[in-house]
Amino acid sequence: MPVIVADVACTEPGCPQRGVRGAGNVILRRTYGPDAIRFLNCRACKAQFSERRATPLFDLRLPKAKIFDVVRHLAEGIGERKTARLTGVARVTVNRIVKLVGKHAKAIHDALVKDLDVPEVQFDEMWSFVKKKTSTSPKRKRLPAR
Ligand SMILES: [Zn+2]
Repeated sequence: MPVIVADVACTEPGCPQRGVRGAGNVILRRTYGPDAIRFLNCRACKAQFSERRATPLFDLRLPKAKIFDVVRHLAEGIGERKTARLTGVARVTVNRIVKLVGKHAKAIHDALVKDLDVPEVQFDEMWSFVKKKTSTSPKRKRLPAR
C-alpha cells in the first residue's frame, strides 16, 4: 500500500499534476539521510524526485535546522564570515546558501509582487552613513620624512 504524500507537488515540467498538492499522485518511495528526507514518485508522470527539489534546500548536505540557523543569522544582517564562525558551517557553504536562498527569494518576489498600482510612494525614515564619521575613523599616520 503506497503512502500518499499530500504536502508536496510534482515539479516535473510537462506533468499534468505539476504544482498541484494533495492530488494523490505523489507517493513515498523511501527516506534518506539523517533528516529522513523523503524520496518521492509521481504516479501521473512517473518522475522520481526528492522533496527538497525546487527548494533552496536542494543538494545541500546540511541538516535542515543548521541551514535555517545560517539563514536566520544572515537575515539579521550578520556577514558571511561571522555567520560561518557562529554556526560552525564552512564559509563557502554559507556563501552557497546565500546564493541559493537569494535566488529563490527573488523568484518568489517576482512571482508575487507584480502589476502593482502604486499611486503614492511614502518613504519612511532611513538613516545610514555613506562614509565614515570623522570621530570613529582612525587617524592617518604620516610616514617619517627621509
Ligand atoms: Zn508528475
